Amino acid sequence: MAKLHFFFFPMMAQGHMIPTLDMAKLFASHGVKATIITTPLNAPYFTRSIQRTHHSISVLTLKFPAVEAGLVEGCETVDQIPSPDMLPKFLKATAMLQDPLERLLQDSRPDCLVADMFFPWATPVAAKFNIPRLVFHGTGFFTLCASENLRLYMPQASVSSDDEPFMVPNLPHKIMLTRSQLPENERCDTETVLLTMLKQVKETELTSYGVIVNSFYELEPDYADYYRNVLGRRAWHIGPVSLCNREVEDKAQRGKESAIDEVECLKWLNSKKPNSVIYVCFGSLGDFTASQLFEIAMGLEASGQQFIWVVRKGKIEEDGHEKRLPEEFEERMKDKGLIIRGWAPQVLILDHESIGGFVTHCGWNSILEGVCAGVPMVTWPQFAEQFYNEKLVTEILRIGVGVGARQWQLGAGSDCIKGEAIAKAVKRVMEAGEEAEGMRTRARAVKDMAKKAVEEGGSSYSDLNALIQEMSS
Ligand code: UDP
Repeated sequence: MAKLHFFFFPMMAQGHMIPTLDMAKLFASHGVKATIITTPLNAPYFTRSIQRTHHSISVLTLKFPAVEAGLVEGCETVDQIPSPDMLPKFLKATAMLQDPLERLLQDSRPDCLVADMFFPWATPVAAKFNIPRLVFHGTGFFTLCASENLRLYMPQASVSSDDEPFMVPNLPHKIMLTRSQLPENERCDTETVLLTMLKQVKETELTSYGVIVNSFYELEPDYADYYRNVLGRRAWHIGPVSLCNREVEDKAQRGKESAIDEVECLKWLNSKKPNSVIYVCFGSLGDFTASQLFEIAMGLEASGQQFIWVVRKGKIEEDGHEKRLPEEFEERMKDKGLIIRGWAPQVLILDHESIGGFVTHCGWNSILEGVCAGVPMVTWPQFAEQFYNEKLVTEILRIGVGVGARQWQLGAGSDCIKGEAIAKAVKRVMEAGEEAEGMRTRARAVKDMAKKAVEEGGSSYSDLNALIQEMSS
């Protein structure tokens, strides 16, 4: 019998390509033939990893019409977009992949298409060939439920200011948010390119075959149930998908090329005591002003903790100078802190026993990776759905504390969190005491649940099998 064949088509962003590769590996390890669709400049990221493993995964490329959509040649990932206002052009370029995708599906006729939420047009294209399309959002159940209820009931429209809290209606927990924490497109109902597209995204959740979720039941049972039973979505949870990376190399080489040699990194980590280092990283897109970088540096120093701080390679500022850390900071901190400029081997670092906490921007992959490492977190959401994810961590799972971010902002933004607040939050998760111990105990418990979920017989393992069975029949 021919192998079941799945196509995976992620958005060209690290936070979507990384879990998609893990997903493809997972399906391949369950006997499925997996093909990843991407653009030429993103292909090496996938092939590099696939070549090392023995999975039957192939990669097909579609030319990315960057120039046709008004972007510069070679801009093929979201982190290369020069400024947030260019995002609609990037989305336009992705939408132009509709016809090439159609031709690919016509020629290859896979049994299933797992396509990113950002490609709502993939559902009707797949339907032309009777191919079931699954939506991959890249976030968890809680956030899917909370954002859907805001869309349905619009409580944000009834508050008098951006800072007045409102309750997200009808959820299993009482969750309060403010309008300033919502993505611009969710604050009100004015039509924008993004809003129109995100409306289509929600509609395609219902018109597609179902939704595939990188989460596990035990992490957010109330919301896994709510999503299926109350909101009526057909969903399969198969995560945390990052747990499929078991070897050092697999953990070290996810996403971009690391800015630090993995041996050097492990050597540094091995020289530290268990739970004695806080890891600070803001994902693949997080950007800060020079003054915010200064406050982070001051905060880390004042916390008295050892740290690894990943500083994204700064965009060149207007005056032509790259953003710099405070003078002599690196020199002063040389025994205490490791600064990685560029891409860090995040999962390798988080999984090391010397890591005792994680300052995170609350991207969903990072949250799950923190959960799998069993470390308490300092939450510092910035954009996308990160303010929702923060609520799950701090109020439902109670495995983290907020740094006090109040303002949704794409790009470096203006909201500045002071060094004292950063130091205080870091100490709350790292220093001995009842609060930190409570968080650490709960974090370890969810870590154990995560591992069990993906083992044979676990909830994610079973859901993955159920999905494969259903697609086979
Ligand atoms: N990541 C990494 N090294 C870095 C920055 C990010 O390996 O220096 C990985 C991280 O492990 C995660 C992904 O990139 O898997 C980022 O996804 P997330 O959802 O956390 O945030 P996003 O980048 O989408 O905002």
